[in-house]
Amino acid sequence: MKIKKNFTVAQKDKILKRDGYKCVICGASQENGAELHVDHIKPKDMGGLAMIENGQTLCSQHNFLKKNLKQTETGKKMFIRLYELSKKEHNEELKAFCEIILQTFEDFNINEHIEWGK
Ligand SMILES: [Zn+2]
Repeated sequence: MKIKKNFTVAQKDKILKRDGYKCVICGASQENGAELHVDHIKPKDMGGLAMIENGQTLCSQHNFLKKNLKQTETGKKMFIRLYELSKKEHNEELKAFCEIILQTFEDFNINEHIEWGK
């Protein structure tokens, strides 16, 4: 039996209602002009199923960020390592460069779960 991975319209309605018709990250709603999406918390390609428990409401911006999160994780980790190395080597130019890159990650709230000790 093929297990369903896409939410039905009824499931989407229940998830949106449960989340108060707001993005679970920033709280944006349609009244603020946000376009709301029902997202799979565990992605479909990782085996995430169409269950209400696996759904969350995201605005289009956070939906986009989430989809690109994985691709940027490696980059952030790499810059953190380079930053640590530049501190050890007292390479101020490299350190400043890494700081700007890592600050950009923070400014866009990308990969917040990966922390860099400033
Ligand atoms: Zn949002």
